[in-house]
Amino acid sequence: MKKLGKYSIGIGDRFGHQGHAQLKAIIEAGKKGVEITPVWNKSNREHLIIGTQPHDVRTEADMVTSSAGFAKPYFVDADHINLDTVEKFIDSSDFFTVDVASYIGKMAGEDEIMQFYLAAEKYTGHFAFTGTNKSLRCSQDQLMDITDNYLFAIKKAGEIYRKIESLKGRGNFVTEVSMDEVYKPQTPTELFFILKMVAEESIPVHTFAPKFPGRFNKGVDYSGDPLKFASEFEADLMVIDYAVREFGLPENLKISIHSGSDKFSIYPHIGSIIRKYNKGIHLKTAGTTWLEEVIGLAEAGGEALAFAKEIYTKSLERIEELCEPYAGVIDIDTGCLPSAGEVSGWNSRKFASSLRHIPGNPDYNPNIRQLIHVGYKLAAQKKEIFSRLLEEHEDVVADSVFENIYKRHICRLFDIE
Ligand SMILES: [Zn+2]
Repeated sequence: MKKLGKYSIGIGDRFGHQGHAQLKAIIEAGKKGVEITPVWNKSNREHLIIGTQPHDVRTEADMVTSSAGFAKPYFVDADHINLDTVEKFIDSSDFFTVDVASYIGKMAGEDEIMQFYLAAEKYTGHFAFTGTNKSLRCSQDQLMDITDNYLFAIKKAGEIYRKIESLKGRGNFVTEVSMDEVYKPQTPTELFFILKMVAEESIPVHTFAPKFPGRFNKGVDYSGDPLKFASEFEADLMVIDYAVREFGLPENLKISIHSGSDKFSIYPHIGSIIRKYNKGIHLKTAGTTWLEEVIGLAEAGGEALAFAKEIYTKSLERIEELCEPYAGVIDIDTGCLPSAGEVSGWNSRKFASSLRHIPGNPDYNPNIRQLIHVGYKLAAQKKEIFSRLLEEHEDVVADSVFENIYKRHICRLFDIE
């Protein structure tokens, strides 16, 4: 059975060209003593927009790992699947992110609710985590609310898990349960009872992705109080530790952070907390490799720069349509977007440095970055030209992809250089 390592990172490669560069970042971290399991993730939404199939991701992952002689485990993640979409991912995936966000708030049956409530009632009141200053408090009313809110969703997770298990066989895949794509974060207390529900459903969950406080907009830094995040993250680790022992969940259960990439202000907190408690982490990044492709093309100049500018111009024209599916995970100040006319006069350096996320660089514009992030549909509509340009400028694009994952993500999270 393939095992997800203590540290794993979810990498998205929407157009399937950058697997080599992404893997190079993982290999480089390994040379520095940080072993990271790569997980190539792609959601159904991304497949639909780009016109790819789940097996394309499998083909790419198999190809890049074998050509690099990478003999360690790696996975292909069916990202954010549910009962309606899981089927087509069965053959090609060995990691399933079971997304139950849309089921939260729906009520389970009265008997099921009562049964869970009675089983969990003994955890109401106050309990402290030994060796830390963290503790949880839960009233009976709160437990009832939590049961009303989450039991149905976790029962659905059980249903989805059992469907995958019946088709792939027990132990042949990694299961993540995610509820990050919701408006309201889950508190550590809620997480504790949710994990009890997961255990009652006998889901051998390896990673759990809660919604944290603050905003995790795609491709830009965390928006919120990093210290508040750190405190909740630490409490969540304690909860998982306790829940594993108390409910018999898998020993290697760890938190999955659907970071949306680029959460530079919280990476050092995550890193220092997991090292303090000797815990693992799954850091899922978004399809921001696409942004590095645009940056690389801009740097290449000529036709490639013109293509990058065209993506910006068209994104600006179709901003509402492109942003609509991502409303909860982007935050664009349209007043800070330069006009198409202004951008048409930019050289390679100006375009690339506006898009590249270097905090403190006066050219960096998070609004442009978020807009182009959701504009990948436009490149998908010109896939042949885009692919040709990527191939023609493979070296500069790959450097950009590598540097982004390795320097800006892995080094910050794992405190290496
Ligand atoms: Zn997510």
